[in-house]
Amino acid sequence: MNVHNRPPLEILLANPRGFCAGVERAIQIVERALEKYGAPVYVRHEIVHNRFVVEGLEKRGAVFVEELDEVPSGAVVVFSAHGVPKWVPQDAERREQFYLDATCPLVSKVHVEAERHFRDGLHIIMIGHAGHPEVIGTMGQLPEGAITLIETAAQAESVVVPDENRIAFITQTTLSVDDTSEIVDTLKRRFPSLSSPRKEDICYATTNRQSAVKQIAENCDMLLVVGATNSSNSKRLVEVAERAGCQRSLLVQRAAELDWDSIGTPGRIGVTAGASAPEVLVQEVLDAFRERFAVQVTEVDGVSEDVIFKIPRVLRD
Ligand code: SF4
Repeated sequence: MNVHNRPPLEILLANPRGFCAGVERAIQIVERALEKYGAPVYVRHEIVHNRFVVEGLEKRGAVFVEELDEVPSGAVVVFSAHGVPKWVPQDAERREQFYLDATCPLVSKVHVEAERHFRDGLHIIMIGHAGHPEVIGTMGQLPEGAITLIETAAQAESVVVPDENRIAFITQTTLSVDDTSEIVDTLKRRFPSLSSPRKEDICYATTNRQSAVKQIAENCDMLLVVGATNSSNSKRLVEVAERAGCQRSLLVQRAAELDWDSIGTPGRIGVTAGASAPEVLVQEVLDAFRERFAVQVTEVDGVSEDVIFKIPRVLRD
């Protein structure tokens, strides 16, 4: 398109967006393991939910598998940021594999909390999405039947527990803050003695990215969330944007997926990225817009984050 004919477009860039400390740490663990032990380094499940990240690590010698029977004995295997059920490290030991655990410390915190409730004799209600690896990992910390999973406020209304006076709740870390508070309110109304997490289970990164989207959604004709279709926190950002007043909210993995006919000529769009989406993919999307529009980008101020998680001692230096 002729440079002079390009329609104007304002892009509001949400802050914070993209990588969180847990994702940075998980990727660093695979990179350091490759440096220290050499390829191949096996990784059980996508280290973080992003194809671009996974393919980049594959090029450097990481081999992604779904289960440990695909990993030879004596090999190095990394567990993903989402966490694993308790039997997985035990299985790795039995198979004589050397494992490194990239579970985000904020997911491990929920595991510890679940164990504490269990030791105290409480039945646990987990709020989360069935089938998500984090939920499988957290529920797998305790014997079957110790945790009941619910996904909606309707299920909170009907869930049956062994003893209504001895229950606690925990949540997945990447849920919608607003949906979860509705579900928790329902549980608290039904079970007044419900034990709550000492500190919110929904992590700082999820909370901050959702607030940043709420801040801009109402003023945008369209909002793009750069992230993967299996990334829970990215999908929640789309829902949050819709709820905050931006009806055209879309998840895109790469710039190549943008459907220019349906995008049309918006005056102002918002752009953010899920916690597992690298900034390079955001910049790729911006460049694609620059080819078609006279773009003016505004970085919107938001909460500044300084969280850093240490990698395991064995990989330091
Ligand atoms: Fe950890 Fe939150 Fe990032 Fe998940 S989204 S890896 S819980 S910081």
